[in-house]
Amino acid sequence: MKIVRADVIVTCPGRNFVTLKVVTDEGVYGIGDATLNGRELAVAAYLKEHVCPLLIGRDPGRIEDIWQFLYKGAYWRRGPVTMTAIAAVDMALWDILGKVTGMPLYKLLGGASRDSVMVYGHATGRDIPEALDRYAEHIDQGYQAIRIQCGVPNMRSVYGVSKGNGVYEPATKGGVEEQSWSTEKYLDFVPKLFEAVRDRFGFGTHLLHDAHHRLTPIEAARLGKAVEPYRLFWIEDPTPAENQEGFRLIREHTVTPIAVGEVFNSIWDCKQLIEEQLIDYIRATLTHAGGITHLRRIADFASLYQVRTGCHGASDLSPVCMGAALHFDLWVPNFGVQEYMGFPEAALEVFPHAWQFDRGTMHPGDVPGHGVDIDEALAARYPYDPAYLPVARLEDGTLWNW
Ligand SMILES: [Mg+2]
Repeated sequence: MKIVRADVIVTCPGRNFVTLKVVTDEGVYGIGDATLNGRELAVAAYLKEHVCPLLIGRDPGRIEDIWQFLYKGAYWRRGPVTMTAIAAVDMALWDILGKVTGMPLYKLLGGASRDSVMVYGHATGRDIPEALDRYAEHIDQGYQAIRIQCGVPNMRSVYGVSKGNGVYEPATKGGVEEQSWSTEKYLDFVPKLFEAVRDRFGFGTHLLHDAHHRLTPIEAARLGKAVEPYRLFWIEDPTPAENQEGFRLIREHTVTPIAVGEVFNSIWDCKQLIEEQLIDYIRATLTHAGGITHLRRIADFASLYQVRTGCHGASDLSPVCMGAALHFDLWVPNFGVQEYMGFPEAALEVFPHAWQFDRGTMHPGDVPGHGVDIDEALAARYPYDPAYLPVARLEDGTLWNW
C-alpha cells in the first residue's frame, strides 16, 4: 500500500480547523487534526509546502519511521507548528492502519484499560451564584469532574468566563482583544469561589480550576496552600512552564495537585517536571504533541513517576483530535481525566463521529480507525475566518501572560 495523495482542508464551522487527509492507492484514507489556534495557516502551509510532497509513495503502515523521518528529517526539531504538522500525519496514519485491519484505534494500542473515559466540563459564571448554577447543571448532566471559572469583582475581564450566555470562546475576529488582569484581586477572590462550591455541593464531584499561566511560582504556592481545604482535583497551569524548575517552589508549599502542559509539544517540555515529580497530571494533547506516537511516549514516561494524563480538549482542537484522544484515553493505563467542551453544531456536522457521551463519560466507539470523518463538501461551505487569541495586560498596562 502506498500514499498517493495528501490534502489540507481548512474550514470554519463555528471556528477554524485544519485537517489533513492522507489517501492511499487502495482508496483507504485517514484524517488527522492540524489545528493550532490563532496560527492555523502556518501549519496548513508547513503541511502543504513541506510535508505532503514527502508523503507521496510512502508505505502508510510505517508509522514510526514516518514520524522519525518528519521529526529528524526537518533538522529543525520541535516547536508547535512542526509538531502539530507531524501529529496530523501520525493521526491519519493510525486511522488508516485501523481501517486496513478493521480495528478501532484503542484496540491497536493494546485494548481498553477501562469501560469509559471520565471527562470534565466547564462551569463558568460572571459571579459566584451564576457559576454555581452552571456547576449544578453539570452535576445534573452526570459530570463527575467539573472545572469552575468565575468573574472576579472589580476586574474587567477574566479568563474562562463567557461574555454572553454561550460556551466560552476566547478567540476573536477583527484583531487581538486586550484583557486586564490583577493577581491580587484574583488571589483574594478565588478561595471564596471554591468554598462556595463545597458549601453548596459537598465533596462528591472532582473540582478543577485553571489559573491560565497568570501566577508567579510563589503566588501559585500561596494559592495552592490556601485552597487545600477544598481538595481540588487539580490547579491547572499555575505558572508558565518554560522554567520547569519553577514548579519545585510550588511543590515545596502545597499538596494541591498540579496539572500542566496544554501548550507543550514534546517530551522535552515536561521531562524535568515528570522525573522530579513536580506535577501530577500532564495535559499534552495529540494534536500539539506529535500525535499518538509521541503522546504515547510521554504517557509511558509519566507512568514511571505516577503522573497521570489529563489531555487538553478545548473546542480549539477539532472533533478529529477528540475522537483520537478518546481512543488514547480508553487505552492509556495512567489515565486521569479528559477535557471536553463540546463543539458548535456545524462542526459536528462537518466531522461525522463515532464517539458517544453518557452522563459525564465518553466512549470512542468501535468503528475501525479513530472513528471521525470529514464531509468535504460541507466543509467547503465554511471558509477560513481569521481569529486571534486575546492578550492580558496588568492594570498598569504591562503585557502579562494570557
Ligand atoms: Mg487550560
